[in-house]
Amino acid sequence: MSTLLELSGVSVSFDGFKAINNLAFQIGEPEMRAIIGPNGAGKTTFMDIITGKTKPDEGRVIWGEKNINLIGKSESHIAREGIGRKFQKPTVFEAQTVRENLAMALKNPRGPFDVLFYKKSANGAARIEALAEQINLTEQLPRIAGELSHGQKQWLEIGMLLAQDPRLLLVDEPAAGMSPFEREKTTEILVEAAKTRAVVVVEHDMEFVRRLNCKVTVLHEGSVLAEGSLDHVTQNPEVIDVYLGR
Ligand code: ADP
Repeated sequence: MSTLLELSGVSVSFDGFKAINNLAFQIGEPEMRAIIGPNGAGKTTFMDIITGKTKPDEGRVIWGEKNINLIGKSESHIAREGIGRKFQKPTVFEAQTVRENLAMALKNPRGPFDVLFYKKSANGAARIEALAEQINLTEQLPRIAGELSHGQKQWLEIGMLLAQDPRLLLVDEPAAGMSPFEREKTTEILVEAAKTRAVVVVEHDMEFVRRLNCKVTVLHEGSVLAEGSLDHVTQNPEVIDVYLGR
């Protein structure tokens, strides 16, 4: 496993308040990583920095074998480098079928409206079938996306991101609002995706994190408080204090 992304000495302040404070973080390729931490720990800001939405005041965000510093690069540039982000709320084309949604994502890899990166795909149909199977939506291919359940929409969006073949996939609270069956399937989808890429999952649900069976990074006050297996970090007295609010 080689390092894909490395943040060092990253800080960002909003009106004098340090939301991210001298943060160091590394992820390899392939790797699955869960990020946990109480509200306000900096999880969203952390993802905003990686995707170029927020520019840090200090530090380095080093990407890939060419060691590119992503700080200062535009969001679309970073997306084209191969960083995909799944927000909490699913954003699919509700009036289109599942098949059409996946086809659109395949035709426009790494950024939905980026014609420069349009890739003609002779085996589009086969890719769609394979993606649909990967996200548990084979039977739903002809259905209108707006009719899918909340969980199925989340899977479709994950499928649309996978169609763009990101090297790093950032996923924000994928299990929120899902049934136990949907959670289980979501775990399988993410674990499978993480076999060939880096996947970072921000999640509050500890049972879900346990099923991901991966290294966990605990954020607190904009820094890494602990890192390791879920059992290791949840036995850390500092982590316990933070979660109990002492
Ligand atoms: P989390 O996602 O872990 O809940 P956030 O990254 O959203 O944490 O926020 C970290 C801290 O930074 C919080 O105290 C939040 O209020 C603050 N913060 C985040 N974004 C802004 C902003 N745009 N302006 C001011 N404060 C912000």
